[in-house]
Amino acid sequence: MKRICVMGTGYAGLVTGTCLADFGNTVVCVDIDQKRIAQLTAGQVPIYEPGLRELVERNSRLGRLSFSTEFGFAIKSSEIVFICVGTPSLPSGEVDMSFVHAAAESIGGYMEDYKIVVNKSTVPTGTGDQVATIIRSKCNHDDFDVVSNPEFLREGSAIDDFMNPDRVVIGASSERAMEAIVDIYRPLYKNDVPMVLTDVESAEMIKYASNAFLAAKISFINEIACICEAYGADVTEVARGIGLDDRIGPHNLSAGPGYGGSCFPKDVAALAATAAGGGVEAPLIKSIAQTNARQKQQMIDKLRGLVGAFSGKTISVLGLSFKANTDDLRESPAIELVETLLADGATVRAYDPASMDHAQQRFPELVCCPDPYDAAQGADALVLMTEWNEFRNMDMPRIWKLLTQPRLLDCRNLYDPHEMQELGFAYASVGRVELPMGDKGGQKDKDKNKNKMLKK
Ligand code: NAD
Repeated sequence: MKRICVMGTGYAGLVTGTCLADFGNTVVCVDIDQKRIAQLTAGQVPIYEPGLRELVERNSRLGRLSFSTEFGFAIKSSEIVFICVGTPSLPSGEVDMSFVHAAAESIGGYMEDYKIVVNKSTVPTGTGDQVATIIRSKCNHDDFDVVSNPEFLREGSAIDDFMNPDRVVIGASSERAMEAIVDIYRPLYKNDVPMVLTDVESAEMIKYASNAFLAAKISFINEIACICEAYGADVTEVARGIGLDDRIGPHNLSAGPGYGGSCFPKDVAALAATAAGGGVEAPLIKSIAQTNARQKQQMIDKLRGLVGAFSGKTISVLGLSFKANTDDLRESPAIELVETLLADGATVRAYDPASMDHAQQRFPELVCCPDPYDAAQGADALVLMTEWNEFRNMDMPRIWKLLTQPRLLDCRNLYDPHEMQELGFAYASVGRVELPMGDKGGQKDKDKNKNKMLKK
């Protein structure tokens, strides 16, 4: 069992530290965010991730997991230090490496005896060398190794992904470091998890190539969805038909409002910038983000097609996080939609099962609702942005009654177009047939006119 320091307690770091503690290691997680560490020390988990709170609580109680802002003590007392700090995009698309560099400086400043420094943050190829140079400049010795161990967990299923990964990738230039990190993942051997043991540069590139490929699948199916719309094909049938081919696989083939989150957008941009930095033309990689930006805009245009100009309208938005089972709003297509609606003078009534607090802080004018039905009340249209389970089987006749106008934009293809037409909705989705409002929908206008006549 090892003594481990994890730097950064965001989605990746907190899950990594907690799971490594669950493997039986003694883990101290440090962060520059004092408020976050105070919360964690008090037993509060600042992010929404299924199963994480229970795991943090159990390992803290057993004395294997602690949180601190005392970098000196945490680093000096650890054999292995994991860097899990953020690597956001700069406006140029290149990676902002300042957090990784600052972490490396801290490690170098407290490096008294041999340690293994593990880069788990997603970083461009060549970062291993940079980190080693920074550490060396601070500690004036070479008694350390830098390893790359990229993380592939997905928000929303992070614990399960960490405990049951498709593979573990470890890039190291020394046998001693490689053996030690392979040993850390020994508890996974029983699950027969494949290990990719390679050099540092290749490990770093594997992470970017994986995320770019996954994002490319999403942009690909979104482009296919547009072509389906032009020719009356159904993208969900097409996705199933192609996904059954083993060479393609069924995952990441759901047409939707475009990808978001803290990883795909920045990692695709970073890979494009890395290619350019190496003098490599990479038009395919560049087009992934272009298609995604167009897809997000197309959802906004579809809504305009349903309701007309946004000014003065009330729009109900269900789902704000970039995907289900997370409270992460970073680069969420829903957020782009909300921004446009508010800027154009619409009222937005929103509901999300996990991210309402973050959303309210970001948009004070957002009308935050306690459930989907309250959000639908009096709206001119309802937009489904995130595929939370609780949106899959809503009482649609009730929604129909609550809306002022029964218009539904289903950006996740959760409902059947014909059923929605039968219920009287004007219904639009992604890459599927668009049907005019059913007869029952017209009834709503007739009822409204009748009420007006009665009032007169
Ligand atoms: P995050 O923004 O949620 O968290 C980063 C944390 O690092 C913050 O709490 C911040 O205060 C802290 N930090 C910054 N500088 C620090 C320093 N010098 N010392 C200690 N702490 C410091 O980021 P995240 O989503 O957890 O991502 C972290 C890295 O992991 C990124 O490179 C990301 O690409 C990668 N990653 C993320 C995911 C994911 O699903 N979020 C999955 C795989 C890999």
